Amino acid sequence: MSAPRTVEVGGAAPYTIAIAPGLLDDGHCLAAGIRGKHVLLASDANVAPLYADGVEAALRRARPGLAIGRFVIPPGEHEKTLVRFGEAMGALAALGATRDATVIALGGGVVGDLAGFAAACWMRGIDVVQLPTTLLAMVDSSVGGKTAVDLPAGKNLVGAFHPPRAVVADTRALRTLPKRELRAGLAEVVKYGAIFDAGFLDWLDANADALLARDDAALAEAIARSCEFKADVVARDPREHGDRALLNFGHTFGHAIETEQGYAGTSGDGLNHGEAVAVGMVLAARLSTALGLAPMADAVHLQALLQRFGLPTGMPAGLAPERLLARMRLDKKADAGGIRFVLWDGAGRARLVTGVGDAEVLATLADTR
Ligand code: ADP
Ligand code: ZN
Repeated sequence: MSAPRTVEVGGAAPYTIAIAPGLLDDGHCLAAGIRGKHVLLASDANVAPLYADGVEAALRRARPGLAIGRFVIPPGEHEKTLVRFGEAMGALAALGATRDATVIALGGGVVGDLAGFAAACWMRGIDVVQLPTTLLAMVDSSVGGKTAVDLPAGKNLVGAFHPPRAVVADTRALRTLPKRELRAGLAEVVKYGAIFDAGFLDWLDANADALLARDDAALAEAIARSCEFKADVVARDPREHGDRALLNFGHTFGHAIETEQGYAGTSGDGLNHGEAVAVGMVLAARLSTALGLAPMADAVHLQALLQRFGLPTGMPAGLAPERLLARMRLDKKADAGGIRFVLWDGAGRARLVTGVGDAEVLATLADTR
């Protein structure tokens, strides 16, 4: 195997993201961040049968003395709860996990957030190693150290900043990912190009077929570039007071759509997160052109690229613009100054804008192209 691509994430607790096909079988790479003897391998009921035995066997080959426990939750965002968190605490207690124990999160963003938060809390904080198995988790949640669970009152309301010891992304694991989940991850990859680098958008356009065919080299490049963009902005602004907010491009509109649909994406009746962000990015780009900030041609290109990836780009039927606007006003990222939009100066350049008039926003939401 050739050496993995690596991305260094800086900050108070720096760590390395390793990206390559086959890493889930590479015991030395998996065990590198493990200090003590106790490991809790956390996963969900879709991912565990595919990869947990392999990961456990690789770990045992590399570190024969490890005591490895398993913690497996049912799949889905609705499992990211305090109840499951409590069960994770119970699993750590049953394992006899000491302060040098490690939680290994094997799965998508749900497992990563829940297991990361469990690691943040057990004995006031133990190591977590993230093994993301969705493209979304590889390019988004694996950088930045945010961990959380949801409450009935809202998503991610209880959580902590807890950076991982290491992140290991095996591109081969993406071969079993449902196509819809792959596309959702590609929406976030496109987002990085849209806000930071027009050249990366061109690269995505040129490599769209390879990415959709899950070519390991193309995926590794897309993941590494995405993680670099995110690592860079998170290093500049770890607690989201400034530039990190640019990562919300497409998310103000996207979250409003997701909440209005009652997060029906996982049941198949609504858009999932990446799909909602795809629509949201097109709306943000259109609002930017309507305000005279960005060239229309760039908005058209962005839409075409998202469509090549099989992503929706038009407002779903049945959502009232007034209700979406009301949702955006309630978004936790809105403040006393009103809705903060990430708008576009064109491909690769974004900035925060407040004080956009309701009429412009409503007109954008009513445009159902
Ligand atoms: P995300 O990373 O998008 O936040 P989830 O953690 O909810 O999402 O994962 C999305 C779905 O994909 C879940 O049903 C999960 O069990 C499943 N899944 C995750 N990784 C894989 C994989 N590599 N192969 C097959 N299914 C997977
Ligand atoms: Zn997102």
